[in-house]
Amino acid sequence: MKWFTLQEFTRSVTANIRGLDNTPPSDAVCGLEWLCQRFLDPLRDAIGSPIIISSGYRSRDLNTAVGGSETSYHMIGLAADFHPLDPDKREAIVSLVRQSAELSPAWKKDPDGCPEPPLHFHQFIQYPTFFHVSVAPEGSTDKFQILRYNGFGQGYKKD
Ligand SMILES: [Zn+2]
Repeated sequence: MKWFTLQEFTRSVTANIRGLDNTPPSDAVCGLEWLCQRFLDPLRDAIGSPIIISSGYRSRDLNTAVGGSETSYHMIGLAADFHPLDPDKREAIVSLVRQSAELSPAWKKDPDGCPEPPLHFHQFIQYPTFFHVSVAPEGSTDKFQILRYNGFGQGYKKD
C-alpha cells in the first residue's frame, strides 16, 4: 500500500458503536493489498489528489449491521467504497476506469508477501456520492462491468 493504510480499510463508526471486532483475517489483508496495488494506488497516482476510503473490509457482523449484501466482497477484502476528496475528480476517475478495464501492465504488480492472486476486476459501481470497486475471487468467470446505481433498491444499469 503506497497511498493507503490498512486502518483506512478496517475503521468503521458502526463497528465502534456496536462493539464489533472488524479485524481482517490474513487472506482479506492480501485482498486489500491487491486492491491497492492494482487499482487504488495507481488511481491515486493518476488523479494526483487524495482518495477517501469510506468502507473496506467488513466482518460478517459489520456487513449485516450496515445492510450489506449477504455475498458482499467487502467480507473477503475484495471490495472498497471510496470517493475523491475533490469532487471534481469524479469524472477523471470514471474515465480512467473505462480506459483501464483492460488493465495496463503498470497496474498489474502484485503485493509483496501475498500469493499471486488469480483475481480480476469484477465491478465498478457509480453511486451518487461514492464508487464501489471489487475484484472477483479465484474461479469466478464474471466479466468486468461498469455499472451505475439508479437509486432504487437493487437497481443497477450498465454504463
Ligand atoms: Zn461497496
